[in-house]
Amino acid sequence: MDYREARERVFETAIRLNKANLIRLSAGNISCRTADGNLAITPSGVQYEVMAPEDVVVIDLEGNILDAREGLKPSSEFHLHTRILERLEDVNAVIHTHSYYALTFAVLGRELPPVCLELLVTGGPIPVAPYARPGTAAVGDHAADLLQRRPELKGCLLKNHGMVAVGATLAKAFSHAWDIETGAQIYYQAIQIAEPDKIPPADVDFIRQKYNLVSDRSSG
Ligand SMILES: [Zn+2]
Repeated sequence: MDYREARERVFETAIRLNKANLIRLSAGNISCRTADGNLAITPSGVQYEVMAPEDVVVIDLEGNILDAREGLKPSSEFHLHTRILERLEDVNAVIHTHSYYALTFAVLGRELPPVCLELLVTGGPIPVAPYARPGTAAVGDHAADLLQRRPELKGCLLKNHGMVAVGATLAKAFSHAWDIETGAQIYYQAIQIAEPDKIPPADVDFIRQKYNLVSDRSSG
C-alpha cells in the first residue's frame, strides 16, 4: 500500500494549523484514514518546523505501527484518534490542538455556547469531555461518547487538555478546529465586557439548514 498521499495531506494540514497558530512546536496532532482503512498520523516528538511528509506514521486502529521511518512512533495521543475513527464512521479526519482559547475553557470545564456562527456551525454548545489521563484510551472514549451522542457536533473540548475537531476530510476538520478556536476567542473577549446573548433559538434550525448542517460531519 502506498501511503504517500495520506502522508502528504496530514503533513500539509499540520503546516496549515501551525501557520494558523492552532498547533505549536510538537503540541497537537493530526490524523486521517488511509484508503485501506488504517490511519496516517503525525509522529511523536517531531516539531512541525522540521517535519517532513515521510515522518507521518501509519498505524492500524489498534495502534500497531504499519509503516514508519526508523525511530519514529505515532503521536502519544494516538488513542484519541483511533477511538474516534473506530467509533464514528462519518469521520475520516481528526485534529487535536492545545490552542489557547479552547484550552482556556477546557481548563475551566466550561462549554462554549452558540453566541456566534463559528460556534453554531460546529454544533455548539461545544461541550467539555470529562478529564482523562493524557495518552490513554479514555481520552478518546470520552470524546467519542460526546460526538456519537450528538451527530451535529464537529468537535469538543477535552477537560484540562485542549480541543479535538473532526471532519469527513482533513480540510473540513481544519475549518472546524479554526471555527471552534475563533468562537472560543470571541466568547472569551465578550465575557470580559458582559454576558453575551446567544443566537436566538428560533434561528438555530434556519442557520443549520442554510449552512447545510445535517447529521454528518461533512458540513461547515
Ligand atoms: Zn494533547
